[in-house]
Amino acid sequence: MVVLLKKNPDKTQLDSLTQWLQGLGVETHVSVGAHQTIVGLVGDTSRVDINVIRALDIVEDVKRIQEPFKNANRKFHPEDTVVEVGGFKIGGGHFAVIAGPCSVESEEQICAVAQAVKASGAMALRGGAFKPRTSPYAFQGLHGDGIRLLLKAKELTGLPIVSEIMDASHIPLFEEVDVIQVGARNMQNFELLKQLGKLRKPVLLKRGLANTLQELLMSAEYVMAGGNSQVILCERGIRTFETYTRNTLDLSAIPVLHSLSHLPVIIDPSHATGSAKLVQPMALAAAAAGADGLIIEVHNDPAHALCDGPQSLTPEAFDGLMKKVEAIQPYADR
Ligand code: PEP
Ligand code: MN
Repeated sequence: MVVLLKKNPDKTQLDSLTQWLQGLGVETHVSVGAHQTIVGLVGDTSRVDINVIRALDIVEDVKRIQEPFKNANRKFHPEDTVVEVGGFKIGGGHFAVIAGPCSVESEEQICAVAQAVKASGAMALRGGAFKPRTSPYAFQGLHGDGIRLLLKAKELTGLPIVSEIMDASHIPLFEEVDVIQVGARNMQNFELLKQLGKLRKPVLLKRGLANTLQELLMSAEYVMAGGNSQVILCERGIRTFETYTRNTLDLSAIPVLHSLSHLPVIIDPSHATGSAKLVQPMALAAAAAGADGLIIEVHNDPAHALCDGPQSLTPEAFDGLMKKVEAIQPYADR
């Protein structure tokens, strides 16, 4: 349920409304926008009499929300959410590019890539320390050492870092990681999502390989229900019958998610296509379709990458991509 208030609502009346609702066991979220203030209600609203609220002086209208996602719903929070990480902003007109290797392999590798992507204008460095691999015999990541190397690259370049978590027990290792990524395979790891909801740190939530957009928003809701409102949604391609590309990039996710939710939406053209030569066209398409940012795999030696080499751009190719993206989506905050 959302309560739409009249312009400049009286503060005392607003406080008594929220206190009354809380007394009925309902959580209230007040969202003050440029044009309208809204009170979003979460929980069991069966005891809330809509007509009593509607009759209040400060209230313009009351609406029930049909969708199962509440905190993530644009009806709850009409203005775009802007997630701020170590000096860069994403969402609400702020376009951000996150770049780096699929996995952290060595100090030389992560530092070289970090310096290169920074020089090309990336705002954050990605790098997996815990890798969800299909085969248990494939490189699994450097774990804690990988996080330490990412922190060295952060110290060297000043870039905030983004890394994937696979298990809630690893949360202490991520204390200095700026954005915690939840990978496609863990999008519905609800216990992990609940633990991340307790943090006050941005979560980059990737869409599962076979999940609907509503399911993605419900996973965001798990994090937000815990009080962590800094969620970035990421479309990274879904499974279809097509085999030429690694996945099928669902670009329509951008306008659909923007209409349903206030959360920023970024695109991962690397995992979506699985092929370095397809990354630039899809990145440009995403920027043109209104994405709030991109996450792109870049490696200094893609042929010898321990993970996802075929879809990794060289630093030179990434630089070319950034110049073209900027022509479509100028990012003032860089
Ligand atoms: C990754 O970002 O390296 C990754 C494993 O992505 P996804 O979860 O989208 O497959
Ligand atoms: Mn990868």
